[in-house]
Amino acid sequence: MAKLTFLGAAGCVTGSKHLVEAAGKRLLVDCGLFQGERELRQKNWENLPVDPASVDWVVLTHAHIDHTGYLPRLVSQGFRGPILANAATFELCQLLLRDAAHLQEEDALYAAKKSYSRHKPPLPLYTVAEAEQALARFQTIPRSGPYRISEEFSVCLYDAGHILGSAIVQLTINEGGKSTSVVFTGDLGRYSQPILKDPQPVARADYLVCESTYGDRDHPVDAHYDQLADAINRTAARGGVIVVPAFAVGRAQTLLYVLRKLEDQERIPRLPTYLDSPMAISVTNLYANHREDHDLVFRNEEQQGEDPLNCHEVHMTRTVEDSKKINAIQSSCIILSASGMATGGRVVHHLINRLPDPRNLVMLVGYQAEGTPGSALLNGARSLRLHGEEVSVRAEVVDLPQFSAHADRAEMERWLGNFQTPPKQTFLVHGEPAGAAALQKTITEKFRWRVNVAEYRQTVDLD
Ligand SMILES: [Zn+2]
Repeated sequence: MAKLTFLGAAGCVTGSKHLVEAAGKRLLVDCGLFQGERELRQKNWENLPVDPASVDWVVLTHAHIDHTGYLPRLVSQGFRGPILANAATFELCQLLLRDAAHLQEEDALYAAKKSYSRHKPPLPLYTVAEAEQALARFQTIPRSGPYRISEEFSVCLYDAGHILGSAIVQLTINEGGKSTSVVFTGDLGRYSQPILKDPQPVARADYLVCESTYGDRDHPVDAHYDQLADAINRTAARGGVIVVPAFAVGRAQTLLYVLRKLEDQERIPRLPTYLDSPMAISVTNLYANHREDHDLVFRNEEQQGEDPLNCHEVHMTRTVEDSKKINAIQSSCIILSASGMATGGRVVHHLINRLPDPRNLVMLVGYQAEGTPGSALLNGARSLRLHGEEVSVRAEVVDLPQFSAHADRAEMERWLGNFQTPPKQTFLVHGEPAGAAALQKTITEKFRWRVNVAEYRQTVDLD
């Protein structure tokens, strides 16, 4: 009988790894890194309960590190099968896995420098060379329609609307003349968002593995474009600079798109806009390569018009020297820079430089995990410790959580409402306990389905 084991994202929102076993074969859906608290991150160092060499395939829902960041370790520990993903996810993984490995190496070097122990040099979880070995195992699969992996398994991907390339994975297991379908939502996106397509409906599944990040929350329905325009206008009026910590994949591109729209509608002035993140610049270029994944129309030889991911005056700063030059700008401008929670990256330098001036504005546009500088700003901190420096917070801070890339409670309900027959069993993953419990309650009351919150290392039969 086929089996499903939850090896991550059970009781938390990171480390997604769902192992399916059937007919003596093993297939892993997603292979994410645990992120956040130290206790969680420690799990990345523990051995998997299955030997990576015994896993035959990995299938990816999307490129985010909490769904792919364990791949280099899986490969370094013996996995020799193909990693199956659509083309956009593969290209994003080339950027993200190399970057993750680079950060692991930097962290290890930093820890070695701070450590007094010469006998235990801190090691990176994986190296850039190991990330390359994982990338060499990728095989692209179609972004829609059925794809046969083997006698035992086939998959079909549907748009998830979460980030470029994100997919809902429908896995069909064939064993002993019997066919069983398991649908994995991956991360579900929002409806009617700019750029990405809506999450596609799925009508049936024997088993459903569903995310629950915002299972207990609805995004505010107020007009966030108006709030964004108002905030930019009042900052420009007082001669201030706008700093936006933005996630490099997805959020930075959405903001470029929205800023462009607001400029065209003359709702905001045409301010110089700096995209100060090499990762975000590379990701932005990928949008032009993967037009099948979104609704944007890019300029080409035959078409009139402008590229939709360019503000009227946008500067892409790749080099450190160009990034530093932004510090000297005294007139109003917009700086989009990663990381999204200000835990690292170039945005930290911009915050150190701009936070003390009350004319400036910091705009928070996504989930701010507890303990991060972004969360401290959100909670009204009057000073922040950044790069060992005490920085006073006099700039205005605004929060626009509506730019989130995850479906909220009502949108989850809308997507689940597409099922024509209830799955035999639904398992909730990728949620903090409160989010998962709230979604469980909603599904039980509204749809009367059998639904459980998945537990870490729990194995269930798929009969
Ligand atoms: Zn994601």
